[in-house]
Amino acid sequence: RRTITRLPEWLKTPIPAGNQNYKKIKSDLRGLGLHTVCEEARCPNISDCWGGDNKNAATATIMLMGDTCTRGCRFCSVKTNRAPPPLDPHEPEHTAEALARWGLGYVVLTSVDRDDLADGGARHFAETIRKIKAKKPSLLVEALTGDFLGDLDMVRVVAESGLDVYAHNVETVEGLTPYVRDRRATFRQSLKVLEHVKQVRGAEGIVTKTSIMLGLGEQEQELMDTLRELRKAGVDVVTFGQYMRPTKRHLQVEKYVTPDEFKMWRQRALDMGFLYVASGPLVRQQLQGRRGLHRERAA
Ligand code: SF4
Repeated sequence: RRTITRLPEWLKTPIPAGNQNYKKIKSDLRGLGLHTVCEEARCPNISDCWGGDNKNAATATIMLMGDTCTRGCRFCSVKTNRAPPPLDPHEPEHTAEALARWGLGYVVLTSVDRDDLADGGARHFAETIRKIKAKKPSLLVEALTGDFLGDLDMVRVVAESGLDVYAHNVETVEGLTPYVRDRRATFRQSLKVLEHVKQVRGAEGIVTKTSIMLGLGEQEQELMDTLRELRKAGVDVVTFGQYMRPTKRHLQVEKYVTPDEFKMWRQRALDMGFLYVASGPLVRQQLQGRRGLHRERAA
């Protein structure tokens, strides 16, 4: 198989300088023992996202439930263990406290998969969201969850906790799913998760969102079929980003998708009826090797 080693020009970005909001967030995080995807992943967009030219647009992605996952997807560099440390019972309160202090307008809560917990961590997610909304109702909250092994009651627990956007990533097309994601994750199971959120909260009651990595070897027709399935499940928002190999032990990049191709996929998805589409080489997928960071506003 061919190995691509050179990074195309469009994927090279300068490291941005810090600003006041960024520095405050960084020092509070240390004090409260919280983790963000942004830092763990050394995302180059960090100062831009946390600082924001306009404070209301500033965004951070908080990782709940530790840094060790019970699954092992082949694109993701997060630590894996069947028995990660127990949850920190103070995490929901600490997270809400920190977020209420910062000048953020939008927060993404994500987590590793915790198949070791009876509820997959759904109640921990829900408690965190309720506490954030109690302290700062104006803060928009997106939760990016796993599939809870297909337990739709757990999807309901999160969906009813008061969040604004429910995200769950299908990551790739159906045919590549067994090679890309952990074997416990299936494309159909993920569709059911997204569909159930709409059943619980109503078509207009909540926004659902999913992300797809491009460059893993997906074919055009497969991607069209995936988008159709997602629309059928009522998904409102889709994002496309370039798959980047975290280490040599992970799946190799099959293709660097060009900015024009990303534009084409954006248009195709909009034509199919998605409400919002972010598509570009630097659009981050939160769980992509824990490097991801939401950057739709810049896309
Ligand atoms: Fe775990 Fe998610 Fe990474 Fe898969 S993508 S290994 S479920 S953190």
